[in-house]
Amino acid sequence: MSDCIFCKIVAGEIPARKMYEDDEVLAFWDIAPQAPVHFLVIPKKHIAAPVDVLEEDDKVIGKLIRIGAGLAAENGVADGFRVIFNNGRKAGQEVFHIHLHILGGREKPWRM
Ligand code: 5GP
Ligand code: ZN
Repeated sequence: MSDCIFCKIVAGEIPARKMYEDDEVLAFWDIAPQAPVHFLVIPKKHIAAPVDVLEEDDKVIGKLIRIGAGLAAENGVADGFRVIFNNGRKAGQEVFHIHLHILGGREKPWRM
């Protein structure tokens, strides 16, 4: 989507500190971290929110978790990290391109 900030990161139109990339998935550090380790894992396909996930997306959504867990381990927080999808403004979703937050590096890293 042309007006989506995360699609622009996927397209290389705005910069991000990328951690992992393949043909389906991109992971990058959150610009405003809420924990010592805080990064986002997104599908390259534009899906607005968890409520918009289709059956055909099941595999890539699972992949976000697998890639995120691997990156959490690579970044030293394998012993404890939080995995969050926000859905909707009321829940704090600000960017309407689905993204998995991974937060770790301190006790109970869940205050967003
Ligand atoms: P949400 O509140 O939608 O679940 O999370 C959006 C996240 O994206 C926030 O944690 C915010 O800091 C992050 N974010 C927003 N814009 C950018 C950006 O341009 N680059 C990066 N790296 N992170 C962003
Ligand atoms: Zn998008």
